[in-house]
Amino acid sequence: MPAEPPAAPAPAFPARPAPTTPLWVLMYHSVSEVREDPYRVTVTPHRLERQLRWLRRRGLRGVSVAALLTARAAGRGEGLVGLTFDDGYADFLSHAVPLLHRYGCTATVFALPGRLGGDNAWDPLGPRKPLLTAAGLRRVRAEGMELAAHGLTHVDLTRADDATLRAETAGARARLTALTGTPVDGFCYPYGTLDARAMDAVRAAGYRYACAIDPGAHTGPYALPRVHVGSRDTAPFLALKRRLHARRRPTALATLPYAPLAPEEAARV
Ligand SMILES: [Zn+2]
Repeated sequence: MPAEPPAAPAPAFPARPAPTTPLWVLMYHSVSEVREDPYRVTVTPHRLERQLRWLRRRGLRGVSVAALLTARAAGRGEGLVGLTFDDGYADFLSHAVPLLHRYGCTATVFALPGRLGGDNAWDPLGPRKPLLTAAGLRRVRAEGMELAAHGLTHVDLTRADDATLRAETAGARARLTALTGTPVDGFCYPYGTLDARAMDAVRAAGYRYACAIDPGAHTGPYALPRVHVGSRDTAPFLALKRRLHARRRPTALATLPYAPLAPEEAARV
C-alpha cells in the first residue's frame, strides 16, 4: 500500500505587514488665545487648525491613542498620528472639538476626575484655566473622543506614597468609568514623570497603555513617548519634530499588541 502523500501544508495566513513608521503621538494641553503662557501649554485655535491642515496635506490624520494602537496592532495605521490633550481643559470642547471634527480627527483627553470643574491649581504661575466638569467629560465621549486618565489631582507619581499612588491610578480609573459607563484604557503620567513602580501601578489598575513625554530607558505600552506641540510650531518645526522623532524612537514601538477595552474605540479608527 503506497504511503499516504504528505498532507498539504495549511494555507499560509498572510502575515500582516507591521507599520514601518514609529508610533507618533502629539501632546497638546489647552487650546485658546494665548496671553500669558509660562509653561507653553497653550496653542491658539488658529495654530491648531494650521497644524491639522499640515497633517492632512501629508496624508496623515490625527486619532485617539486607543484608535492608533488598535490600528497599528492590526497592521494598519501608517497614516495615523495620535493626538492627546492633557489636563482636560474646558476649552477642549469649545475650541478643539470643532476643529477636530472639521479635519476628520479624533483625540484622547487625559482628564483629572479629582478636579472636575476646577482649574489648573497645580501650576504656581500663569492664568487659571477652567477644567471640564463631569457633564463636559461625558460630552467629550459623546463627541467621539477618547476619555482617559491623568491621575486624580495632578500628582507626580514618582513621589507619591503607596495609598496616593493607588488613588491616583486605580481611583482615577474607577471614577472616570463610573462617570461615563465606559472602560478606561489610557493613562498619562502627570509632568511626564514615571518609574517602574508607577508603571506597575498603572498596569495593575487595569489601564491598557500609558503616555509619558520622554520615557528615557522605559519602553512598551506603559511608557509611550510623545512630542510636545505648541503655538510656535509652524510647518517647518513640525516637519523637523517629525524627522527627529523618527530618528530617536525605536522601531520596537512600531506595533504593540493591543485591543481596546471599549469595543466602540475600534470602530472609531
Ligand atoms: Zn498635566
